Amino acid sequence: MAGRLNGKVAIVTGGARGLGRGIAQRFAAEDARVVIADIAEAAAADAAAAIDGESVVCDVSERASVQALVDRVVAKHGQLDVMVANAGIAGGAPFLELSDELWDSVIAVNLRGVFLCNQIAGRYFAGRGGGAIVNTASILSARANPTTAAYSASKAGVVSLTHSAAAALGQFGVRVNAIGPGYIETQMTEGIRADPAMAQSVRDATVLGRFGTPTDIGDAAVFLASDEAAYITGQVLFVDGGWLLHRNPRGEQMQRATTTALR
Ligand code: NAD
Repeated sequence: MAGRLNGKVAIVTGGARGLGRGIAQRFAAEDARVVIADIAEAAAADAAAAIDGESVVCDVSERASVQALVDRVVAKHGQLDVMVANAGIAGGAPFLELSDELWDSVIAVNLRGVFLCNQIAGRYFAGRGGGAIVNTASILSARANPTTAAYSASKAGVVSLTHSAAAALGQFGVRVNAIGPGYIETQMTEGIRADPAMAQSVRDATVLGRFGTPTDIGDAAVFLASDEAAYITGQVLFVDGGWLLHRNPRGEQMQRATTTALR
């Protein structure tokens, strides 16, 4: 039986490792032809070789680099059907110490990078009359954190950009959605997972009681990229094990108070 992305050509930015790699693997398993676009050349080549795909070196924060990526894929394959704008960096710092340089670098990759991927792929998709874009946002787009001001702002920006791009591109048959991952087992969360108390606090705050896996995110991305999501655009699908339901420092007290009140 043909896979759910059979016949589609997809770019996955940041696909050399982590979530992007999980997305690329799931796409390949659903018969998509996958192009991994990443700044890390050797890791991208390895990830591509593992799925019979190809890799292109790309810095998503540079317009010329993203344009060259899309041009190259369209020239080689004669089509592009899916753009997954996933590349991102963390860049945490206490708010009062956050430097202009760190702010700019996080926004450049996480927000301008997603903008460039959406606009450049969007122009191509608009010209051919169809396509799907999947952006990677985060649960931190929706919750405050004292050390992630730049990251959280970039991800809230990704959510807003997803809405704007969806509104602009719908008339051309182009769908734009985002995934909002919770805490996923990748290098980005290595520090958290290496600290037993911190790791446990994440599990405790997650309704399903565990970290997510790159495959959990890949499964959601397959759905949003596929024709099964033909009537879905401008949405953020939080794939977070229910973390957003509980992420409130006083959540437990509130829950106890509500339970008592409703008794
Ligand atoms: P990761 O650090 O493991 O992988 C990120 C990938 O992006 C790397 O391969 C890296 O080389 C690439 N990259 C970085 N800058 C780039 C650039 N300028 N151009 C092209 N590629 C670049 O991170 P991850 O955990 O896989 O995160 C992937 C995405 O998911 C990010 O947008 C991140 O913010 C988001 N996210 C992750 C989590 C999590 O728990 N891991 C949670 C929510 C959101």
